[in-house]
Amino acid sequence: MTMQPDNSPDEFLFADESASEHADGALSLGAPRIWTVMVIDDDADVHQATRFALEGAVLFERRIQLMHAHSAAQARDLLMTQPDIALVLLDVVMETADAGLQLVDFIRNVSGHRTSRIVLRTGQPGYAPELETLLRYDINDYKTKSELTHHKLITTVAAALRSYDQLCTIEASRRGLELIVQASGAFLEPQGLSNFAAGVITQMAAILGVRPEGLVCAQGERNGGQYRVLAAAGHYAPLIDQPLDALYDQRVSQLLRQCLEEGRSQYGPNESVLYLGVKGGLDMAAFVSSNQVLSEVDCSLLDVFCVNLNACLRNLALVQRLHTEAYVDALLRLPNRTKFIEDINQVIQTGPGGHSVVLVDVDDFASVNDMMGHAYADLLLHAIAHRLKSLLAADIVLARVSGNTFGLLGLADKVAPKRVLAMLQEPLQVAGQPHRISATLGVCHLDDTSSSGADWLKNASIALKQAKRESRGQFVFFSKEMASLARSRAQLLSNLHTAFDQDRLFLAFQPQVDLQTQELIGLEALMRWRGDDGRMVPPDTFIPVAEQSGLIISLGDWVMQTACLTMRRLLAMGMAPRRMAVNVSVVQFQSPGFVERVYAALASADLTGEQLELEITESVAMLGAGVVEPILTTLRERGISVAIDDFGTGYSSLAYLERLPLDRIKIDKAFVYQLSTPGGPRIAEMITQLGNKLGLRVLAEGIEDDATWRALQDMGCHEGQGYFIAKPMETAVLTDWLANRRSLQVAGSGG
Ligand code: C2E
Ligand code: CA
Ligand code: CA
Repeated sequence: MTMQPDNSPDEFLFADESASEHADGALSLGAPRIWTVMVIDDDADVHQATRFALEGAVLFERRIQLMHAHSAAQARDLLMTQPDIALVLLDVVMETADAGLQLVDFIRNVSGHRTSRIVLRTGQPGYAPELETLLRYDINDYKTKSELTHHKLITTVAAALRSYDQLCTIEASRRGLELIVQASGAFLEPQGLSNFAAGVITQMAAILGVRPEGLVCAQGERNGGQYRVLAAAGHYAPLIDQPLDALYDQRVSQLLRQCLEEGRSQYGPNESVLYLGVKGGLDMAAFVSSNQVLSEVDCSLLDVFCVNLNACLRNLALVQRLHTEAYVDALLRLPNRTKFIEDINQVIQTGPGGHSVVLVDVDDFASVNDMMGHAYADLLLHAIAHRLKSLLAADIVLARVSGNTFGLLGLADKVAPKRVLAMLQEPLQVAGQPHRISATLGVCHLDDTSSSGADWLKNASIALKQAKRESRGQFVFFSKEMASLARSRAQLLSNLHTAFDQDRLFLAFQPQVDLQTQELIGLEALMRWRGDDGRMVPPDTFIPVAEQSGLIISLGDWVMQTACLTMRRLLAMGMAPRRMAVNVSVVQFQSPGFVERVYAALASADLTGEQLELEITESVAMLGAGVVEPILTTLRERGISVAIDDFGTGYSSLAYLERLPLDRIKIDKAFVYQLSTPGGPRIAEMITQLGNKLGLRVLAEGIEDDATWRALQDMGCHEGQGYFIAKPMETAVLTDWLANRRSLQVAGSGG
């Protein structure tokens, strides 16, 4: 077990004050600059002799410092307070025969000095410990006290110290590798370049075992060639964000520049410069002053660190790109919806009071896209973004939250909807041409009960949707009632979807008759939905919801097909009236391929156009002559007739109506109900006269009694429908009704 020292004791020097001043570690950085040697012995002479031999001695350029313990108990106390002990010279027999060996166990397992070397000393050869004990406790050497002459002691100590130093080096590199692994993990998190750079300094300093003192600089993104300080620590800290040239220490800036130019790391005696990155891509140099000579282990650790960091840097660049893509709108380079939500969250955290979220929706953007093309529409969006950006205060967040919707976030008065609308009043410049837009706004105030950014954005969109429905070109403020209404609408819509998918919708048919002859001229198909609880959900409730969601297109197609097939069955039964009337909503009418789908429904039921009437509302008529007229003309060329429903409730101009190719006007039941009140018939009369003037048939709905019937007939109204004639009926009831009526007619004509 005896180690043969390879240094001759003749090389040892005794301490010299000036030498020890400069005796900065020629050995590994992990080791202390002095050797702490602990002498544990209950024999005062041994302490004396050891002191004489070692006190002030310099081994491998480090001074030996002795610590003395005269009992195992005293040794325990010292061991607990002294972290760095290179060597323990330990007496085996003290208070008890094995007090020394017990202390070894304490040194290794309690005080945690796993690297410290231990040399056992005993008075008598008989007390030699077992080989197993020597191995188990990693004991270096075992000597009888008589063996430890002055010269031998130094040789033994030298061997032990050398071994300690090697162990320290290994330990340091293990710790370094551990740090590198840890650091790499930390760097994977998307923290941004500056954080990364700051991390490099900290980790580098940790590996070198020095206080963080240094800086990292990197090529600025846009100012080509100009290097900037990304992160700095210690007395370099004030340099953060400065150009490299601002560095007063010419030598350091020279080192950094050289490192960046040559693209490789340099480990000098007093400082290290790490090169990170890919030449030509993002590259950076990290300078850390270490104020000591680096060992080979340190250098190779730094190399490993560098390789790791390069991988991290590549990841970071990737993460940053993903980050940008995740948060920035590609077209306008504005924050996108995700970022906007995060920004709202930020405001919520710092106190949302006084802030508003405003959604700015560009009206009729889809038709700009259709008519002017995508490129033009993109330019329009750019112009809007530019206009808003230039007129809004600098601290307002402007985001693009969807195709034609912008989001604003800021103090309420700075983003007041009237102000925002005013900003968009003047025409924009798009492709050198003035372009006027109209925008609709949904506004919501953040309050202290604010939950999440996503919720507030949703609230603003609820307000926006309502504004789109009812106040286009204006704005609507969000309210709590609005939210609960929206929630129940969403619930209703979801139930309607399910009902539709499960074929739980059906049609009812209401007869339309000639008021003069009482002849059955048509049937109006009306949608019916019996809810899960068996109760009927009124169409006035579910149809608007279906219209808002676009579900009405599928529903409408289904109504069209089902109504046509019913007509076919009635024809087969010899009970069919002249035509079947189907309600068509604006959304449906505008949907691409509408006309084709009408034709397909006719064809699949083998009907002619004359057997179908479409009831459109005034809102359809108001879509604009350019859109409506051609479609109506096409339909009528096929023989399909067109009625304008609920006439008088909308705002269509009479002049405009005159131009539309129509067959029939339906007087809304509200005006029919008024007939019995004083002055009540005026509107019904006016509509009837108008219809007659325009050469259209006039049909009154909502006839509930005989008197109304007669009043309508007297004023020249041709046709009618209402509970007085028949309620809307399911097919089974309808066929009975039709059969009954036919037999009455047969009986009537017969009698
Ligand atoms: P509408 O097109 O004006 O339909 C006439 C409504 O008046 C029907 O209500 C009908 O049941 C009701 N009605 C008819 N005669 C009388 C009467 O004498 N007294 C009273 N109090 N009411 C009478 P319904 O079926 O509840 O439909 C309401 C609205 O729902 C319809 O008004 C129509 O706008 C819409 N709707 C119904 N089915 C469809 C459909 O398949 N597609 C579309 N787009 N809308 C539909
Ligand atoms: Ca109708
Ligand atoms: Ca109506």
